[in-house]
Amino acid sequence: MTSKISRRAFLKGSITAAGSVAATTGIARAAKSITHETKEPLVTLLDISKCIGCEECVYACQEANTDKYPEPQKPFPKMYPTSKVPVQDWSDKRDVTDRLTPYNWLYIQNASGMVNGEEIELTIPRRCMHCENPPCVKLCPWGAAKQEENGLSRIDSDICLGGSKCKTVCPWDIPERQTGTGIYLDLLPSLAGNGVMYKCDRCYNRLEEGEVPACIEACPEDVQTIGPRSEILKKAHALAKEMNGYIYGEHENGGTNTIYVSPVPFEQLNKSIETGKGKPHLDKVKNLMADGTNFAKAMLIAPIAGLAAAFGKFYLSSKEDNQ
Ligand code: SF4
Ligand code: SF4
Ligand code: SF4
Repeated sequence: MTSKISRRAFLKGSITAAGSVAATTGIARAAKSITHETKEPLVTLLDISKCIGCEECVYACQEANTDKYPEPQKPFPKMYPTSKVPVQDWSDKRDVTDRLTPYNWLYIQNASGMVNGEEIELTIPRRCMHCENPPCVKLCPWGAAKQEENGLSRIDSDICLGGSKCKTVCPWDIPERQTGTGIYLDLLPSLAGNGVMYKCDRCYNRLEEGEVPACIEACPEDVQTIGPRSEILKKAHALAKEMNGYIYGEHENGGTNTIYVSPVPFEQLNKSIETGKGKPHLDKVKNLMADGTNFAKAMLIAPIAGLAAAFGKFYLSSKEDNQ
């Protein structure tokens, strides 16, 4: 017979190792500032065994990114055809925190699994994985999704038409659309993508100022650590070894800049979590951009997307000049 215990009780028992891991691998208390001088991507390590599900990170994300959230115009223009680009309106549900939405880029997923005959409950912060070779960026026809030199990917809400290509090609279905906002209202209010797509941008503006992302800074348990890829991977493997645990994100979709370490196999966690709209899975993911068709599409799209993005920026600046 098995018993069910909480993450806290579990940590007091068989995996007090999580604490000793921190000491032996040098995973120190999360730094408040960061300098990124190497050419390597910045990667976030999430030690799932430490997360207590308090949602401090979720609220910190909302507070830090409020200015980026959409203020849609209503009533929304009618779309043709209506079925292809349905209205998605989260503007009156901004307090939803149990899934990803245009106003909630991070949420806490409840999971459970067996370790040494004990069932433990875990909580997992979920958001964009920031893929090393992101399909959302490579296959966005408008050049609205972009990848920064430090590896993060983000969607430029000034240029995005909301057509959802980024969501369709994302292995985790991450971006979420808000209708009634964005450049489509000026250009093609009845035919374009019906809004703008939103997702975690890894607090690119905070990183530019040398600050760590808000969710990292706010966490009372120091669940997340951020640093250059090689350093973070070394830490993740050391942590997994000492915890007798498992890693997710190192190879998924060819590698992501988000690395989870868990005492429970991810196959088990994936079976235990609620998935669906706004609730990403934890399944294995093959490298989508290694697929010849996607690679060829990306080659075709790149120059057109560059022109489209340039047109979008030009249109916006002329509009501002005329105001
Ligand atoms: S703030 Fe930290 S401990 Fe709390 S839910 Fe977020 S990651 Fe987990
Ligand atoms: S997880 Fe999805 S949205 Fe995030 S970078 Fe990868 S493809 Fe893009
Ligand atoms: S990195 Fe920034 S935008 Fe992304 S989940 Fe954390 S706080 Fe939110």
